[in-house]
Amino acid sequence: MDIRRQIADDASLYGRSPDEIQLLAVSKTFPASDIQQAWQAGQRRFGENYVDEAIVKIQELSDLQIEWHYIGPIQSNKTKKIATYFDWVHSLSNEKHARRLNSQRENNTPLNVCIQVNISNEESKSGLTVSSLADFARLINDLPQLKLRGIMGIPAKETDFDKQRHAFAALTDEFRKLQSDDPDIDTLSMGMSGDMQAAIAEGSTMVRIGTAIFGKRQ
Ligand SMILES: *Cc1c(COP(=O)(O)O)cnc(C)c1O
Repeated sequence: MDIRRQIADDASLYGRSPDEIQLLAVSKTFPASDIQQAWQAGQRRFGENYVDEAIVKIQELSDLQIEWHYIGPIQSNKTKKIATYFDWVHSLSNEKHARRLNSQRENNTPLNVCIQVNISNEESKSGLTVSSLADFARLINDLPQLKLRGIMGIPAKETDFDKQRHAFAALTDEFRKLQSDDPDIDTLSMGMSGDMQAAIAEGSTMVRIGTAIFGKRQ
């Protein structure tokens, strides 16, 4: 996949090792056959936004070793399905959902979670405000079926590279603060097709890429 080369190039441009940056292939709206094709090219980590659509594909592809990441908005009536079918959730930002996912996770391994942080503080964007982050991290650490791995952010859409970097730098600051209290925290989920290079420049450890892998969505 071209995108792997792009990640390697961006990493070396900013003095980072490509091994520090994981690729999450965002396959929402694309059929299982496209996921299978990416799997054959070596991709093992896939992100989905719509629970019911995802479960159809997860069941269809159950023979393949795939790590499934839920990255869409969480609705209370879907937490049981998320807790059952996914390995990771990137979009956790409230206590009620955290407690539901924890009590509904019956798998042997805890659900890996990233807290979604609202860095641009836009009313329209979901995510937790920075001021509540430390308290929410402590709450998650008290829930045995959840494993806090880091934070996720979706900054406001921006085409200017320096402005993209500026928003990601703020997320990186929050990530480092959390990490200083908890060495198990290792995931900074930021960067999409339109701002991947800026995210890598600022320290992203997981980029979530849809369009640049699968093409334009309908
Ligand atoms: C759709 C989506 C992506 C991928 O976006 P592209 O611009 O297609 O790369 C990444 N993260 C989230 C949360 C998404 O909803």
